[in-house]
Amino acid sequence: MTPAKKILHKYWKHESFREPQAEIINAVLQDNNVMALLPTGAGKSLCFQIPALLKKGVCIVISPLIALMNDQVDSLNKKGIKSIALSSKYSYEETITAFDNLQYGNYKFLYLSPEKLQSELIQEKIKQLNVNLIAVDEAHCISEWGHDFRPSYLKINILQKIHPHVNTIALTATATAKVVDDIISNLNIEKVSIFKQSFYRNNLSYQIKYTEDILNKLQQLLSHFKEPVIVYANTRRSCVHISTFLNNHNFRSGFYHGGLTFDEKSTAFRNWSNEKTPIIVATNAFGMGIDKANVRAVIHLNLPQSIENYIQETGRAGRDGERSYAFLLHNNNTISDFKKIIQKGLATPKICKEIYINLNKFYQISPGEKPDQYYDFILQDFCDRFNLPVNITYNAITCLEIEGIIEFLQNINKSSVIKFKVNNDDLFLYLKRNPNTKKIIQLLLRTYGGIFDQFTKVNEYFIAKKLHLNKTDIIKSLNQLNNDNILIYNYYKGISKIKFLVPREDNYAINNIAKNINKRNRIKLKKVNSVIEYVENNTICRSVQLLHYFEENELNNCEICDVCTTQKPTKTDYNIISDKILKLLDNNRVLNSSDIVNSLSFDEKRILETLQFLLEKRIIRLTSQNKFKKQ
Ligand code: ADP
Ligand code: MG
Repeated sequence: MTPAKKILHKYWKHESFREPQAEIINAVLQDNNVMALLPTGAGKSLCFQIPALLKKGVCIVISPLIALMNDQVDSLNKKGIKSIALSSKYSYEETITAFDNLQYGNYKFLYLSPEKLQSELIQEKIKQLNVNLIAVDEAHCISEWGHDFRPSYLKINILQKIHPHVNTIALTATATAKVVDDIISNLNIEKVSIFKQSFYRNNLSYQIKYTEDILNKLQQLLSHFKEPVIVYANTRRSCVHISTFLNNHNFRSGFYHGGLTFDEKSTAFRNWSNEKTPIIVATNAFGMGIDKANVRAVIHLNLPQSIENYIQETGRAGRDGERSYAFLLHNNNTISDFKKIIQKGLATPKICKEIYINLNKFYQISPGEKPDQYYDFILQDFCDRFNLPVNITYNAITCLEIEGIIEFLQNINKSSVIKFKVNNDDLFLYLKRNPNTKKIIQLLLRTYGGIFDQFTKVNEYFIAKKLHLNKTDIIKSLNQLNNDNILIYNYYKGISKIKFLVPREDNYAINNIAKNINKRNRIKLKKVNSVIEYVENNTICRSVQLLHYFEENELNNCEICDVCTTQKPTKTDYNIISDKILKLLDNNRVLNSSDIVNSLSFDEKRILETLQFLLEKRIIRLTSQNKFKKQ
């Protein structure tokens, strides 16, 4: 038995390697630089973990999400493999201790975010470490052509500079030729062995469903599944709304989005995972690292941002190899709304310039000046001051950072939390004595459910707006309530840092980078268009279309997607549908379109087309309540 296989048995208790894990591990052990392009769930982690265990020293893993890191580090530690994830929570002293452990304490893995890697202290400490392998997880983040571009990923190659003799393995689940090129050139690695596995999923049936009534269609689809389903929606609000709707219609569902507290997320995840609520309605915050074998369907209620996203999200269905489904529901509005939202979020050079000038004004920087300091930056304060929308301002600032005009150290996902300390009776007494706090307490109770039982994220701006006060007043009142022992208020300022990297030069600075900004915007639109083309193309097998996007062109038709299984409609088909519709409308019956769609087992789009045809031919008509009736 190979040493690698021994480790696999000893720590992971898996029978054997999957294709092509053993080859990848071998290549890494022979000190090659390696790129592993394998679908989600294929088992990429083992490809760097096992070789690292077979070598002396510490493996440094770069990973984009704290949650992912903690997950992997917990599971390694449980196996008795000592590992650390250095998160932003680590103080100076804790960081020093962590590195002492790494150096002298038999630790094997150091997980780091790319942002953390930029700290001089950490770079200094890494220099002294005996590093045996550099692993870059989710490596597509390094490329503008990847679906999750993270500027800080561009700076990972500092590791290769610090330890030029250590080999690198880059791992990703989605990669087109362009992304692969970007990863190799940005990591600055040579002689790379590339391992690529097909993205074809022979048990996954892709289905695009046109429907006028998305919620109705969703119910219809869900009624076929007993096993877990993921429903993807595009806003936090719609997740809550749709989940409530489903629960009111006797489905068991929960919701998950980035705005939930840590506890709420864990509960939602647990209930889904143990199938108490087998349906989860989520934004794309739900995903990375999910490893549940029997997800039977993934249903998209909106278009994904790119084909890469779509492959990754639908790839969570059917890990057990059983037949599973990827549905995407849409109607004419879906596509036009989607285009509008994307267009509205694009930071054009003009917008970037406006934001740049405002940033300079905000910190009172004069033309030609380049202050050598980090400024505190609170996105919301800045937006309020200049009356700017948050989303596009954020995008513009990211553009300025990518282009090296500013350095932007983000801290946006944290927020203040509150938990009540007293029971209802005590609160009542307090309110009687302090009537001036009534408004804010009422608002808290009304807005934030569960605030008595657990720490809940609150937004001081939102509260201030509702009460027509300013944020400072709200912070003062909440601090007062905290001091009066009514609640615990942990104030978090959400402060990011900004540093100007070039002297202020409004025109020159931005004109210089306009070309790049436009290029990235074009890439974004191109990706979006690929999604729209995919949704609108009803003639080529779905798997063939998707794989074509990843330059896999040898595939035969999958035979299980909606295109492969729907016969092209012929005139006779329309005749049959029209006969059935007319039969439904016999005896002067009056029905609306969803009654008709639900009563017939044909494709909804064809039924609607037939209804339109019958209307035009004046064989049927619409009543004043918009129902169909025979003439
Ligand atoms: P990826 O990073 O490619 O999405 P992971 O590394 O998270 O995938 O692995 C997905 C799951 O597959 C994990 O539960 C892992 O333990 C399991 N797995 C990996 N390799 C094997 C193997 N050789 N045999 C059985 N299970 C495996
Ligand atoms: Mg992974």
